[in-house]
Amino acid sequence: MERSLTDIKYNYDFINEKIAEAAMKAGKTRDDITFLSATKTVEPEYINYAISLGLSYIGENKVQELLSKYDEYNLENCSLQFIGHLQSNKVRQIVGKVDLIQSIDSMKLAKEVSKCSLKNNITSDILVEVNIGKEENKSGVMPEMLEELVEEISTLPAVNVKGLMTIPPICEKNDEIRRYFEKMNRLFLDISSKKLDNVSMDILSMGMSSDYYEAILEGANMVRIGSALFGNRIYK
Ligand SMILES: *Cc1c(COP(=O)(O)O)cnc(C)c1O
Repeated sequence: MERSLTDIKYNYDFINEKIAEAAMKAGKTRDDITFLSATKTVEPEYINYAISLGLSYIGENKVQELLSKYDEYNLENCSLQFIGHLQSNKVRQIVGKVDLIQSIDSMKLAKEVSKCSLKNNITSDILVEVNIGKEENKSGVMPEMLEELVEEISTLPAVNVKGLMTIPPICEKNDEIRRYFEKMNRLFLDISSKKLDNVSMDILSMGMSSDYYEAILEGANMVRIGSALFGNRIYK
């Protein structure tokens, strides 16, 4: 199967319209919402085509894949972020290469990011990933441990917490998923109100191809969209 540039262009415009519509319904504007594309399995030529259309944020979820595609991304007008499960021993391979690590869910991982950032003389921006559905075997900090973790991370010298990220459980019903998004929004606002040092709750990253519209209605200001833009993933 080949991807088609025509389809990508059509999908890109369609998603932007939907984002604008959902933003309006949520009392915001299109510019309040960041459209990040999850680019796993997508070849750089297609990613770069989407960037040429105006896509300004991309996210990879595997360190190996990110590194293998790194030299080919056209990043002048685009931010590269890391959105997948991360192991401590791989942190040093991406610190300095990505603008935001969205998947920090433990102090151990945050410490490693801080340590590698200090070595590089930089500060790294991160999101804390929340396991909002409290699912076993899923990444993310449990909601009841979130505040403590954010407070702990805020003491690290070279890490700034910029917000929260989640991947909710697979839900059959629309209002079921909306309830998870709503819970996330509440956590986001709670932590915002604490005004911790090195913590600014700017980004609430939630919503994927099948539910970004609902996520925006519930307060997401960053959505991560893969297959709705590039078509079904082609695993080789
Ligand atoms: C793949 C991926 C997405 C996007 O998934 P789609 O359903 O294809 O839109 C979002 N977030 C993360 C962390 C991903 O790995």
